[in-house]
Amino acid sequence: MIIDFHVHIGKQEHWHPWVNEHFKDLNPKLYEQFDDIMNPDGLEAYLKEQGVDFAVLLAENSPITTGIVSNEFVRDFCKKKDMFVPFASIDPKIHDHPGKRLKKLVEEDGFKGLKLYPSYQQYHPNDELVYPLYEEAQDLRIPVLIHTGSSVFKGSRMKFANPLFLDDVAVDFPDLNIIMAHSGRGLWYKEAYFISKRHENIYMEISGLPPKKLPSYFPKLEENADKVIFGSDWPGLSSIKANIEAIYDLPLKSSTVEKILGQNAMTLLGLK
Ligand SMILES: [Zn+2]
Repeated sequence: MIIDFHVHIGKQEHWHPWVNEHFKDLNPKLYEQFDDIMNPDGLEAYLKEQGVDFAVLLAENSPITTGIVSNEFVRDFCKKKDMFVPFASIDPKIHDHPGKRLKKLVEEDGFKGLKLYPSYQQYHPNDELVYPLYEEAQDLRIPVLIHTGSSVFKGSRMKFANPLFLDDVAVDFPDLNIIMAHSGRGLWYKEAYFISKRHENIYMEISGLPPKKLPSYFPKLEENADKVIFGSDWPGLSSIKANIEAIYDLPLKSSTVEKILGQNAMTLLGLK
């Protein structure tokens, strides 16, 4: 079972020019086929061909840095496709009543999780303004995926992306599952690993990291086998399939690889 915990959907017109340029640079061939792939049937076929069984598809309300892929777009995209798992996006700085909004998105629109972009939406993840969202997510028993570490996009601010801010959140919401997207990429691998070991409810998601480098970034990865989760950050990479194969090639127990590629995510998402 392979679950990709980090997939961006959206049309070229949803993103700022520099985001489109980035995708084009990374994978020119894919970018040419984008319109054929970016629909439910097209993406389902594409992901299956890459070896993915389930994929978390992310909404994105980040008008300053990347653009707006609305919750409505993601909701409609995910309808009727069992392999897609929709995650909502709410910006607590822009949206009123973020908790109420989240409850509605989950209970009425079928969202299975929340994605936060603190360095794009520009707040500290432990700011009180985000707390209504954590509170509601904890009540709804849905996981929250939070961007940590670097980003190439114009306007993003690294100071909000330190995983250590999640220490407060884990303490204040002990029943909330928190997943660090990119596991502190660039500056904070040690911090990400440490707080994931320290807190039962903090997970490391490894999208945007070259699989071959994982043993050097996280020398004791195996000791956190139950908390590491595969993601691709598609379309921001050259090949999902190649990344999956590279994880199989790592010097890890096969049980650890199975956990990273699917089992841990399956438990978090309540999939069978
Ligand atoms: Zn991403």
